[in-house]
Amino acid sequence: MTTNEPAVPAEAAHAWRPDRFMVIAAHPDDAEFGPAGTAATWIDAGSVGWLVCCTSGDQGGEDPYADPLALAALREGEQRAATEIIGYAGVTFLHQPDGALANDLALREQLVREIRTFRPDAVLATDPETLFYRGGGVNHTDHRASGFAAVDAVYPAARNPMSFPALARGGLAAHVVRRLYLFWSDQPNARVDISAVMDRKITALAAHTSQIHSPDRLAERIRAWGAEEGEAIGAAAAEALRCVVIEDDEVEGPG
Ligand SMILES: [Zn+2]
Repeated sequence: MTTNEPAVPAEAAHAWRPDRFMVIAAHPDDAEFGPAGTAATWIDAGSVGWLVCCTSGDQGGEDPYADPLALAALREGEQRAATEIIGYAGVTFLHQPDGALANDLALREQLVREIRTFRPDAVLATDPETLFYRGGGVNHTDHRASGFAAVDAVYPAARNPMSFPALARGGLAAHVVRRLYLFWSDQPNARVDISAVMDRKITALAAHTSQIHSPDRLAERIRAWGAEEGEAIGAAAAEALRCVVIEDDEVEGPG
């Protein structure tokens, strides 16, 4: 054995790409802290993406006298700007209450309506099984609730015409989502090479000006995390996701 050979990456970069994908997030900025690099990479390769924000982040501040509705409006504007930078086709705000998101039937119906309208091959959402992060810290209750709600909307509700039958009777036919990609997971099994779009992810994050107070320090942290995940696949930067295949493909990718 020689020791001067280049290091062989532990795994290959994730190659499957959906034609259409939907990111379901609890708050404005989750999608940018989460899978923005994957979204931008897929969009650049020809995918069409849609973002759903369950809340408008009306508790995302420090001032108990602040007007939550004004904050929500401000944050929706920031999210629209970030969404444009990443290249999503659009964003839907469900206007659920920040800090009080519940995986209930009302939210599930809203998500099924979104899924059946946009008809994505893949849905990206927070991993609901993450309660405490590996590196320390608690995963926000809304992140867990939106993750559970996304999973439950994808399977079985969106694909079952008898689930919320008024939707199908009203023309929103059942739809099969082929894959889930869960972000902020302790069990990642897929790493997407985001080297080409790292700057865009950081620019999109910086659009959340009400939330980000030291953009330079944040950029440094985001680059460090990306580089760490990239090592496994021999890329300059990657995002780690937990991929759950619901429907197998005959070929690599639907497109
Ligand atoms: Zn959040």
